[in-house]
Amino acid sequence: MARSETILALQHVYKYFDDFLALDDVSFTLDQGKFYSFLGPSGSGKTTILRIVSGLILADKGQVLFDGEDITNLPAEKRKVNTVFQNYALFPHLNVFDNVAFGLNLRKVPKSEIEDRVADILRVTRMSGFENRMISELSGGQQQRIAIARAIVNEPRLLLLDESLSALDQKLRQQMQYELRSLQQRLGITFLFVTHDQEEALAVSDEIIVMNDGKLQQSGSPVDIYDEPINHFVADFIGESN
Ligand code: ADP
Repeated sequence: MARSETILALQHVYKYFDDFLALDDVSFTLDQGKFYSFLGPSGSGKTTILRIVSGLILADKGQVLFDGEDITNLPAEKRKVNTVFQNYALFPHLNVFDNVAFGLNLRKVPKSEIEDRVADILRVTRMSGFENRMISELSGGQQQRIAIARAIVNEPRLLLLDESLSALDQKLRQQMQYELRSLQQRLGITFLFVTHDQEEALAVSDEIIVMNDGKLQQSGSPVDIYDEPINHFVADFIGESN
């Protein structure tokens, strides 16, 4: 049987924090090898979905399927999903090589293989030659590249990026949007990129999923979303930019 195009499916997912309903019947699917943005105002539930997909927290109701397999309650370390966090969560007391190799060392991958894989990934992220630098000696854009390198070195099928460009200044942010997009296309990994910046989502994505108030409001290509914004958050933005 041919492999399904769908890599991830959420089916009727609910999440409560005490009495507060943070996710209200959220369903969507992601295809392999595409760049998705999760767009929505602060507090709309984007990060909560990422945490459920990566296994950091569990859904109260509903299913998470990966390659058609139910992973709703699978431990985070068994999922083929990695996350680039907003603050990058790099280890400042380790150099670039050790940061990128960290997960491979934990899994006791042979030393020569680690060296080859880190060299490859630093080439892909344009950070060859920085192996011995400490994280504190890197610029914001370089730290972002290392955070991505660390997240892709063990070849995840799905990469989650949580507002990972928001710490960068406007010019660098645009450059990194371009870099993210081209990296995603070269690697063929599915990216799910959380942002509250509509312009950013429209610029980088194959598909945009719009969240509001814990509910999925709309999804489609940037052109669909631009032409028929049913979400006031997106409509306000498009109105402003005209
Ligand atoms: P977004 O990423 O869209 O900004 P979040 O998913 O972080 O939104 O949060 C959605 C809602 O759930 C917010 O109202 C937030 O305050 C609440 N929330 C998130 N995590 C927790 C938590 N651990 N405990 C209580 N409330 C939470």
